Parts: sequence; C-alpha cells; structure tokens
Amino acid sequence: MEGFREAVGTSGPVCVRGGRTRWNIGREESSIWTGEPIREVVAPAGIEAFEPAEMTVSAGAGTTLEELAAALEAQGQEVALEGPSGATIGGSLMVGWSPLRRGTLGETTDALLQADCVGADGVRFTAGGPTVKNVTGYDLCRLLVGSLGTLALVGRVILRTRPIPESSRWLAGPVEQSVVRKLVHRAATVLWDGSQTTVLIEGHEVDVRDQTKRLKSAGLSEVELPELPPFRERWSGALPSGGVLQIGAGVVHSWKSPVAPQVAPGIAALALRLRDIFDPERRLNPQCDPHLVAA
Ligand SMILES: Cc1cc2nc3c(=O)[nH]c(=O)nc-3n(C[C@H](O)[C@H](O)[C@H](O)COP(=O)(O)OP(=O)(O)OC[C@H]3O[C@@H](n4cnc5c(N)ncnc54)[C@H](O)[C@@H]3O)c2cc1C
Repeated sequence: MEGFREAVGTSGPVCVRGGRTRWNIGREESSIWTGEPIREVVAPAGIEAFEPAEMTVSAGAGTTLEELAAALEAQGQEVALEGPSGATIGGSLMVGWSPLRRGTLGETTDALLQADCVGADGVRFTAGGPTVKNVTGYDLCRLLVGSLGTLALVGRVILRTRPIPESSRWLAGPVEQSVVRKLVHRAATVLWDGSQTTVLIEGHEVDVRDQTKRLKSAGLSEVELPELPPFRERWSGALPSGGVLQIGAGVVHSWKSPVAPQVAPGIAALALRLRDIFDPERRLNPQCDPHLVAA
C-alpha cells in the first residue's frame, strides 16, 4: 500500500489502470481530454489472506478476477464479482455492475467489506471493516462501488465470499416470466428477450431437481449458459433490439456500449456534491463521470 500511495502522490491528475476491459465507461468517447496529462498507476496485486471459515478474502485491488476465482474455488467459495479475462478486482468494483446471479449472490455493494484507499490529498484511509457486521459510521464502501475511481483510488480490499452452489441449471422456453417466477423458489436470475424466458436455478441438488421438474412441465427445457450481449444499460421501459432484460435488476444486457450509467438529475447533483467533498480539485480520474445524466 505504501508504494501505491507514493505512486498516487499529492498532485496532478491520476487514475488507476486495471485490465482496461471497461476503460471507456464514464468517458465521453467523442470529447478529447485537454487538461494536464493523467498519470496511470497500478494497484497492488496478489491474495493476502483467504479465511474460508470467516468467508472473507483480502487481496490487492490489482489482482485479476481469474486469480481470485481460482484461489476461492479450491475451497468451494466465490465472490459476487464478474468480468472478462484480465479484469481486476478494483476495476470490477469501480464499474460496479449488478451480478448476473443477483438472486443468489446479492449486489456488488454487498461484496465489499473493506477498502484501503488513497484519497485525492494523497493520504491513505480505510473504508468499512473486516467483518460482515460493521455498523459504525458512514458506509463508504457502498459509495465507492460504481464510482469509477473518482472518489478514491483503491489499493487493497477485503471481500465477502459465498459458497459455490452445489448444483445449477439453466432452462429456457416461450413462457411469460411472471409464470416462471411463480414456479421457482428464488431464481439466481430471470432473463426476458421479448419472446422467451431464461432462468437460472441453483442451490442444493434436490431443490434444483424439484424446480427443474416443475419448469419442464410448464414448457421450459434445459439449455447451456446463454451468450449475453456484452454491455449493460438501465431499463427504460422498452427492450432495445437484441437486448435481454434481467428481471428484478432493472438492467438490460445490450449490444450498445453505454457511455455511463444514466441517473436522475437529483442523484447527479448529489453525486457532484460528494465529488466536491472527496476531490475538490478533480485529481482522481478527472476524465470520468460515473453519473452522466441522460441527454
Ligand atoms: C457483478 C459484476 C458483473 C459483471 N459482469 C460482467 C460481464 O458479464 N461481462 C463483462 O464484460 N463485464 C462484466 N462486469 C464488468 C467487469 O467487471 C469490468 O469490466 C471489469 O472488471 C473492469 O476491470 P478492469 O480491471 O478491466 O478495469 P479497467 O477497465 O482498467 O478500469 C475501469 C475503471 O475503473 C477504474 N479503476 C480500476 N481499478 C481501480 C482501482 N483499484 N481504484 C480506483 N479506480 C479503479 C479505472 O480508472 C477505470 O475508470 C461485471 C462487473 C460486476 C461488478
């Protein structure tokens, strides 16, 4: 962490480079950055401690999701972070998308217990705490997830792990999603492409088998993991061409790269005030805006 703090320094624009798999999110692709050149630093990498009994893992934010998954899988555990090959823990948290398996994994914000950061003033600070039950003070971890590194640069994290489900099955068929949802206990995900519903059920083998039987008699059949469009945007009430709605998450998997999450003007104003408090001089990832309002 000390080397990371020194690399961030106390002056000049700076951002963290992860795996660059979502580098353009929150950046206006059409606009050319005319400010001072932005220095790119790299967060520490490597798993520091994995405590399967406590269901926590601490790691450098620059650790790849692949390395993390391999270490956790050996003990039958996982974290609620996903991303393409090369993506890092820090990048995934800063992008902050909702997990596809939200029904069983929970939200990304629930995964982050503690973040060791360097602030815009070049000073180290810790958000959150190492235990799941940590109830004192403001919940800065939740603020950091999805902030695209505009509030603080994250060097090290403690994440909550989950047991990998014993069994899981994808089913799909031309059946209304409301009908499908009534037939399952709690789906990991329910997807709707405008004509058919795809559902993932997971848990104990006996429960999964039971729910599979009910879904099959309603007209669904077992399928392989579906290939989803690579980008995500907010549900606006209409399904874009080729888009897939993730029911209950308000997320549309889409072929079009969104510039940034789009939020209501009131939320954008609040986000601006927070950015003024954390980074009044706009040192941290100044080219990025995680709260662009829809034009
Ligand atoms: C639950 C979940 C599910 C996801 N599912 C998918 C999926 O199915 N498919 C898919 O393609 N993607 C998915 N994503 C997105 C994916 O995780 C991100 O694309 C990827 O992890 C970004 O990591 P990166 O290292 O490539 O970040 P980069 O592209 O390098 O960086 C992204 C942004 O984060 C900032 N940043 C990176 N690291 C830090 C840090 N340590 N501190 C501060 N700022 C930092 C960068 O400056 C940049 O602005 C998912 C994300 C989540 C959370």
